[in-house]
Amino acid sequence: MREEQENIWDSLTGIYNRKGFYQATQELFDRNPDTKYVIAYWNVQRFKIINELFGREVGDNILIQMAERIKSAYHGVKGQNGIEGTYGRMESDNFAICFPASFLEGDRAFVHSGEITYISEDAEYRFSSCYGLYVVEDRSVGIAAMVDRSRLAMDTVKTNYVRPYAYYNDSMRERVVMEQILMSECEKAIRERQFMVYYQPVCDAVSGRIMSAEALVRWNHPQRGMISPAVFIPLFERNGFVSVLDRYVWESVCQMLRRRLDEGKEVVPVSINVSRVDFYNQQLCENIIRILDKYGLEKRLLRLEVTESSYSDDPQHVLEIVKRLQDHGFTIMMDDFGSGYSSLNTLKDLPVDILKIDMKFMDDLEKGGKSAIILESIVRMAKWMSLKAVAEGVETEEELNFLKSVECNYIQGYYFYRPMPEKEFEEQLNHREELPAGKELMMSGGEGDFAVLYGESMKGENLFQNMLGGLGIYELVGDRMEIVRANRGYCEMLLEPGSIGLMSGRRLISEYMYDEDYQALLERCGEAEKTKTMVDTQLRRRRYDGSTAWLDVRIRFLGNQGNRKLYCFYIMDISRMKQIEMEGYANRYSQALFRNFDKVYRLDYDTGYAEVLHTSEEKMKIGDKVYFRDFFERFDREIISERKEEYRQWMKDKEAVDEALRGSRSRSLTIDYRVDGPKTGCKQVWAVLIKVTTAYEEEGYLLCLKRA
Ligand code: C2E
Ligand code: CA
Ligand code: CA
Repeated sequence: MREEQENIWDSLTGIYNRKGFYQATQELFDRNPDTKYVIAYWNVQRFKIINELFGREVGDNILIQMAERIKSAYHGVKGQNGIEGTYGRMESDNFAICFPASFLEGDRAFVHSGEITYISEDAEYRFSSCYGLYVVEDRSVGIAAMVDRSRLAMDTVKTNYVRPYAYYNDSMRERVVMEQILMSECEKAIRERQFMVYYQPVCDAVSGRIMSAEALVRWNHPQRGMISPAVFIPLFERNGFVSVLDRYVWESVCQMLRRRLDEGKEVVPVSINVSRVDFYNQQLCENIIRILDKYGLEKRLLRLEVTESSYSDDPQHVLEIVKRLQDHGFTIMMDDFGSGYSSLNTLKDLPVDILKIDMKFMDDLEKGGKSAIILESIVRMAKWMSLKAVAEGVETEEELNFLKSVECNYIQGYYFYRPMPEKEFEEQLNHREELPAGKELMMSGGEGDFAVLYGESMKGENLFQNMLGGLGIYELVGDRMEIVRANRGYCEMLLEPGSIGLMSGRRLISEYMYDEDYQALLERCGEAEKTKTMVDTQLRRRRYDGSTAWLDVRIRFLGNQGNRKLYCFYIMDISRMKQIEMEGYANRYSQALFRNFDKVYRLDYDTGYAEVLHTSEEKMKIGDKVYFRDFFERFDREIISERKEEYRQWMKDKEAVDEALRGSRSRSLTIDYRVDGPKTGCKQVWAVLIKVTTAYEEEGYLLCLKRA
């Protein structure tokens, strides 16, 4: 049989295909029984995107170049013993190479970096690649399995930019085998009732009283013992079984609740986890309602936890379903909040009643990172949006104390309880009454604040001074508002370090504020007086150093003497939160901007630099800076347009640009022009200059270019 007649060549690249590679490698092994070989599996990261962005043709060209690269590196290259290697394309962007292990020694390293450069007619593109290496110890494994193993090794490096390769080890295979086994056993496990529902109480922060609970599934495996959901849920999400399992969990929760109610025992709301996969089920809403009806339970008893990442698959679809569930009266919890992208701002548009703050903030708290500030802001803002907040993963007293100090009222974590079997949980519930009930109400606002404010006792004064965040007492006469007292937190937040408090200098707060914010503040004060409730507002105020702080202010009317009105402001610096929010905004808007333009620069007129924020050209990198006056001068020669002079002004003179922008309702300027470059030829370009303002009142100028 002649080799050529069999299909062993890859038609695109002209090197071996999978079958050819297997054959040739087997022959190589047979010819060299004593040589130690390595099999490498090589793959371009995110190749799909290359195809999408540049088209199949470019994609194909890259594959051809990769094959060329392998060919020139390995073809006819002899190892120490004069032995060559083999190579082939396995499928799409996956290549396998077999070469003597001695190649790995010295400086004949296989591939020095994961970087691949693709040079087309007019540009150079760079992509990263990664590879897995399998050192052939035992030839009886078979070539196909060897290739699989190098591929497994490769799968572990996908996101590692520092080291683009990994060696295979047996634990990688054991893991896959184990995963396969677990996936295949799921049906049997549910029939045999190997899954168990554990409950972890959610407690009131102050009293420790159980307020609700979360149902968490466990797999009590007959051979492997107790398996954590962190292991099997991701697998079941892959094969879809998670939906079956979730329904099982929901049903057992309802059974437990029904039974307790029938026995006349107390129950608390239990939250269940809704997997992202569940949303593919068109009947999800009906299914959940049906289970509740079957057991005759009120909807408030079953809360639904949806992770923020569930929204990322198909935001609109998931949002609609969750909204429907909420409309039906279910309490919706946002699980793992803060772990992903959503900012508090996006939260406004989502149907959510309770936030579960991601555990990662707890890990970070001790290390003194930014977590404390972010946590505090999340809790404050949650309150501001009338959401309850549950902190997850609370393990220590320090963490608890911190959370209490920022008035996070609900705690789930090992500090109070670990997840426990149903029976144990019920025991805890049965004893719930014996705990001091009602205590949890004391801290949460209410009259408590008052006595403190008057500084009547040492204890009160201490509390006033040490309360986290800023407290200030203000007097309003007509429309003049003055600060009369402030605590330490206030001074730290807004005053110059070392200043002797408020007693010197200007106390009229309108002097530190924007007019429109001040007017809004006065209105809110009026509301607080009328409704006798806490009223929230957000405002900007200048700090001693001229910078702008975003403040969240809770206003309480204390009383009046004639025309003098007294208010207490509970002030929180939410600048950081605002910044995060703004970055979120900027990110979203910039995504839109970036989709529509080929290049976006930020022009800094003070330094004369243009910073690349976005570019579709691989030659340029994001963050690159060009001195734009030079740059555009060079470019200027190539522009053909009657409005060239105007465009030139944009580059030179901030004042001229500002002037022109003032005349524009859209706060932007647009010019069409043609460039006629020696290399690029004649092209139509659309240039837009936009002025943007950041949260800190900084101004920025964006120059966006698009080729027609
Ligand atoms: P999750 O929904 O974020 O659940 C909270 C996890 O944090 C639980 O892990 C819980 O045991 C753990 N935890 C609670 N307090 C502490 C603490 O103080 N310290 C630490 N280190 N951990 C704490 P678990 O039970 O292993 O569950 C892991 C994940 O598996 C869950 O994360 C959830 O995403 C998923 N899961 C669990 N049960 C189900 C279920 O019935 N259905 C679905 N779809 N997913 C589930
Ligand atoms: Ca959860
Ligand atoms: Ca969680």
